[in-house]
Amino acid sequence: MAMKPFPCPKCHQDTIALKDKYLAAIWMVIRCGNCGTRLCAHPLLMTLLYFIYFWVIAACVFWAWYHRSATPLIWMLVLWTLLDIINIRYMPLKALRAQTPKV
Ligand SMILES: [Zn+2]
Repeated sequence: MAMKPFPCPKCHQDTIALKDKYLAAIWMVIRCGNCGTRLCAHPLLMTLLYFIYFWVIAACVFWAWYHRSATPLIWMLVLWTLLDIINIRYMPLKALRAQTPKV
């Protein structure tokens, strides 16, 4: 499945490769290849999404333990994959301010 690159929020060119979008999805700072702006995934939405990731683990592990069954762990993998797709495809990028040297 080929995906077209994601647009940079600063220069609006499709410069962000899937690999970079994935790095942003794991809290890495990436850089636009066109305008050089440093970008990161939206911090507030990322916090919310990671809260859901950990809630899914907690719920599925408890459910697996409660029913002595591995089925909820399969659900956990399915839900994590869905959350990853949402994170990589739909998480908006945010431009970071240029680093200015301190005097
Ligand atoms: Zn750019």
